[in-house]
Amino acid sequence: MNATTQKPISSQGRQSRRLQPSCKSQPDDLSSGVSSGENRYLFGPVHSRRLGFSLGIDVVPAKTCTFNCIFCQLGHTTHQTIERKEYVPAAEVTAELEKYLASGGRAEYLTFSGSGEPTLHSKLGEMIAQTKQMTKIPVAVLTCGALLYDPQVRRELALADVVLPSLSAALPATFQAINRPHGTLHLDAIVNGLKSFRKEYRGQIWLEVVLVKGLNDNPQEMALLHDAIAQIKPDEVHLNTVVRPPAESEAQALSATELRRMQAILGAKVEIIADLPEMAAPAMGHLVVHDLMHLLARHPATLEEIAESLNCKHEIIWLVLNSLTESGVIEVREHRGKKFYAAGLSH
Ligand code: SF4
Repeated sequence: MNATTQKPISSQGRQSRRLQPSCKSQPDDLSSGVSSGENRYLFGPVHSRRLGFSLGIDVVPAKTCTFNCIFCQLGHTTHQTIERKEYVPAAEVTAELEKYLASGGRAEYLTFSGSGEPTLHSKLGEMIAQTKQMTKIPVAVLTCGALLYDPQVRRELALADVVLPSLSAALPATFQAINRPHGTLHLDAIVNGLKSFRKEYRGQIWLEVVLVKGLNDNPQEMALLHDAIAQIKPDEVHLNTVVRPPAESEAQALSATELRRMQAILGAKVEIIADLPEMAAPAMGHLVVHDLMHLLARHPATLEEIAESLNCKHEIIWLVLNSLTESGVIEVREHRGKKFYAAGLSH
């Protein structure tokens, strides 16, 4: 998975989903995870830039991955493998999730991610299918995409509503330098796997590209990445950089200006999701409103719940809610003595 984002920097790719500078610092990706008490496999929900209010489902031990990315915010890979097996008991994962949902637990997405690469779990497809039977909450999978050359992995991923793979290199040498893959993995096979998956899968593919200063931000790499993305045909492209402490200190972030230049090269579908302060400040108000509407369209919520979900101060949320209520964009409903804000109820 894209560890930068997720936990790593990943990305939910939308500028609109970036955390606000006025809000408390949050994990931008699920990988950085918030542990939820007695749960062993669930973490959060956390506010993810890419997935909103998202409950993480961690199905491999830390840190089990096919890659050992220099930008990984989880640190060095301690178990590098391509072996698929039941790293944690699938029945325990689904039982924990069932309990969470039965107790009224909520989320905008249920996201397989966590301490490594979730497609390494041999029962990932089974767990996704069982999750879909339990709830209508959409299922997402964060993956580095390394095993997409395997038709069985693609079949299992196809059960999810959204798949968020990453691709940060178009040249084999760059792939080796940045992702430091397991010795059996080849970039061509991974790109071909992504293309095959696009043809087979009807759900959403949100591709993340993590740029590392001086490594994959040169004109040749960008031109080749542009071509690869055009062939893969993802629904969205999320552009990120090294915004969290990386596994290797030489992995440095691009500036906001540099990211915008790369965005222009990669094309119109590309959204910058990097949580750089110089990028977030000018658009803060717009971004708060976007996240708020995204939340309220799905879950009527109290001011306190909204502030917690968006990780913003109550005062800021209160001002935004008042403005949106006065303009008729959202409604207020009283229930059991509490005020709930909702969007789309009368439109
Ligand atoms: S090493 Fe694995 S978990 Fe870390 S960023 Fe790379 S793919 Fe993601």
